[in-house]
Amino acid sequence: MNKDGRYIRCPECGEKTDVKVYEDTTLLHFPLVCPHCKKEFIINVIQFKMTVDKEIDN
Ligand SMILES: [Zn+2]
Repeated sequence: MNKDGRYIRCPECGEKTDVKVYEDTTLLHFPLVCPHCKKEFIINVIQFKMTVDKEIDN
């Protein structure tokens, strides 16, 4: 079975983050911190489809 993971891209700057997901990975209300622009988001990922719950202002 071919299992290729993908790195989640930052919704703000579009760069790859350190978070890797697979097709069967489900993230709900996951705190994503971008290592490039340092923005923090609460995201959901279901089958590579990401939605942003909210953006956190630090
Ligand atoms: Zn970013």
